[in-house]
Amino acid sequence: MRQSQLFPKTKKDTPKDAQAINHKLLVRGGFIDQLMAGSWTILPLGWRVISKINQVIREEMNATGAQELLMPLMHPKEIWNETGRWDSAAEVMYKLKDTREKEFALSFTHEEIVLDLVRKHLESYSDLPIKVYHFSTKFRNEPRATSGILRGREFLMKDLYSVHETQEDFWKYYEQVSDAYLKVFNRLGFKIIMTEAAGGVFTKNLTREYQVIAPVGEDTVYVCNKCQTGFNKEVFKGTIGDKCPKCGRGTVNENRAIEVGNIFPFDTYYSEKMKVYFTDKAGVKKPVWFGSYGIGITRILGSIVEIFHDDKGIIWPKEVAPFQVHLLQIGNDKKIVSAALKLYQKLNDKGVEVLYDDRTDKTPGEKFMDADLIGIPLRIVVSERSLAKDCVEIKQRNKVKSELVKTSKILSKIV
Ligand code: ATP
Ligand code: MG
Repeated sequence: MRQSQLFPKTKKDTPKDAQAINHKLLVRGGFIDQLMAGSWTILPLGWRVISKINQVIREEMNATGAQELLMPLMHPKEIWNETGRWDSAAEVMYKLKDTREKEFALSFTHEEIVLDLVRKHLESYSDLPIKVYHFSTKFRNEPRATSGILRGREFLMKDLYSVHETQEDFWKYYEQVSDAYLKVFNRLGFKIIMTEAAGGVFTKNLTREYQVIAPVGEDTVYVCNKCQTGFNKEVFKGTIGDKCPKCGRGTVNENRAIEVGNIFPFDTYYSEKMKVYFTDKAGVKKPVWFGSYGIGITRILGSIVEIFHDDKGIIWPKEVAPFQVHLLQIGNDKKIVSAALKLYQKLNDKGVEVLYDDRTDKTPGEKFMDADLIGIPLRIVVSERSLAKDCVEIKQRNKVKSELVKTSKILSKIV
C-alpha cells in the first residue's frame, strides 16, 4: 500500500475530549474515527488490525470444532419475551418500532437467537453437540462510554454458543474453549489473568473472565503473588495483602484490568425457557445444556494499544500489525525513488505486507514521526546515506538501534 493513497492521513493533534491512550493514538494514527459517544468507524488501517485479530480467534475457535455463521442484528420482541429478557435486560437494550408499530431490539447478545435457530434444526441426540460462532455488532446502552474504543455503544464481538446432550459433555467443551481463549490471548501478546465473576443479566452461575492488567481498566482484580490466580472484586471480598484463598501461600495484590473475554455456563436455564428439547438414546425428551463465550474484538484493538505503546506511538505485536514492514523513502531523488520502488515490489512479490511511504511532500522528520505513531514492527529506510553504502537501514519499532543491511541481503533478513 502506498501511503500517499492511504485514507485518512495521520493527525498532529489529539482529539480534545480524549482521555484514554487508545483513543488518542488510534485516532491520531488514522485507525478509528468517532461518529458520536461510543460509536466508531474502523478505518482501513484499523480494519487490517481487526481482520488479523479475527483470524487468530477464527483459527482457535475452528480448532475446537466450532463453525462460523452470521446471525441477524435486529430481533423480534417475541423472542426476547420467551426468556423474560425483553424486560429484565431493558437497561442495556436498544429497542425500536417500525411504522406498523411492530417492536424490535438491536442485538446486545444472541443467546435467544441461537436457541431459536437450534430448536428449528435439532431432533435427536445424534445432532449434538452444536458449536457455532460469529463476528458481529452488538448494541448496548452503556451509561459511560468514555474510554476510547474500550467501551462502545456499538461494538464488535466474537460470540460462540454451544449446545450439548449432557452436563459432562458441556463442561468438557467449556474447558476446551477456555484453553482456546488462553491460546488466542497468548498469540495476541496479552498476559491474561483468569477470574471467576458474577454473571449479571446473563446467569446466576459464576462466569469466567479473561482480564488484562492495564491502568485504564474499569475492573478491579486481585492477583496472588505466588500462584497468579485472579479474583474478581465482586467475588473476592477481601483487600490487598490478604492470603490467597486458592493456594494459601501467597498474598493478593490489587490491579486495574480490562475484561477482554467472558464465558458463561447456563446449564439448562435458557433451553428450558425456550423449549429446546431433544430425544435421547432411550427416547426421552430432554432440554439441552447450553453455554456462551464472548470476546470483545474492538476492545482488544484498544487494549493492545493501552499495553503496547511508548510516548511516540503504538508498537503493534507482529501477529496483528496492520503491515509487517513500513518502507520509508527519504528524499525524492530519482535514484532513491527507484531503489525504494524496487524494494517495495520485491517485498510485495514475496507476500510481505508493506506500507510504502512514497510521499514527496513530507520532511524526513514527519515521515519518522508517522512511522513511530502508526507502529508497524519493522521500519526500512531508503536514503541517500544508506544507498551510498549500497544498504538500507532497518529498525524494529520496539528497539532503539537501527542497522545497515546490504540491499541484496534484505529479503533473506526479513522473509
Ligand atoms: P463489561 O463488564 O465490561 O460491561 P460484559 O460483562 O458486559 O463487559 P460480555 O457481555 O461478557 O461483557 O461481553 C463479552 C465481551 O465483549 C467482554 O468480555 C468485552 O470484551 C466485550 N464488551 C462488552 N461490552 C463492551 C462494550 N460496551 N464495548 C466494547 N466491548 C465490550
Ligand atoms: Mg456490560
